[in-house]
Amino acid sequence: MPEDNLCYCEEDTDKEELKSMLLSRNEIWMKIKDGSDTVNDSMRTIILSCVDSRVQVERIFNVKPGELLVLKNAGNMITEDILRSVLIAIYELSAKFLIVLGHTRCGMSILGDKNKIEHLMTKLGKNTLDKIEKQTGQDPLKWFGFFPQGQWCENVKTQVNYIRQVLSELIDGCNMPCIIPALYDLDTGEVKFLD
Ligand SMILES: [Zn+2]
Repeated sequence: MPEDNLCYCEEDTDKEELKSMLLSRNEIWMKIKDGSDTVNDSMRTIILSCVDSRVQVERIFNVKPGELLVLKNAGNMITEDILRSVLIAIYELSAKFLIVLGHTRCGMSILGDKNKIEHLMTKLGKNTLDKIEKQTGQDPLKWFGFFPQGQWCENVKTQVNYIRQVLSELIDGCNMPCIIPALYDLDTGEVKFLD
């Protein structure tokens, strides 16, 4: 067991052990529970970040429940479902700001790395890859949203440009949020705004 205080599930960890671990952590949370259970998105800000478990947006910005609306997916990509949540936040929560927060060493930046791509392709298997291609009509690598190695800043800017274009075609200018690119450094914990 690595000495990093993290909880690890092993191959033989069962559902009851997992539930027990989560509930004991939840007891800790119940004692410190702060923020609001009535107000939603008091900062009128949406943050789209990567699903990576090291990117804990609420903790990175030290915000409380009720302050910030956080959306996550692999590679902080603008997808149809993200668009759906963004529109709801704009119209129902009066969101004024949208931050796309990428991070260094993102696991989605594998394009150009032959070994990583081959490893992934092998794990997924031809059957799954063929089905994804058939169902989505896209190259699976494109569908997953992988981007070139080390290009986390560029990916953030691509996503920002894309959502700006989509929203400008979809909603009135007065409802258009201010869209801000940003990058989180996994090593130092620092956030840099890229605009
Ligand atoms: Zn990532």
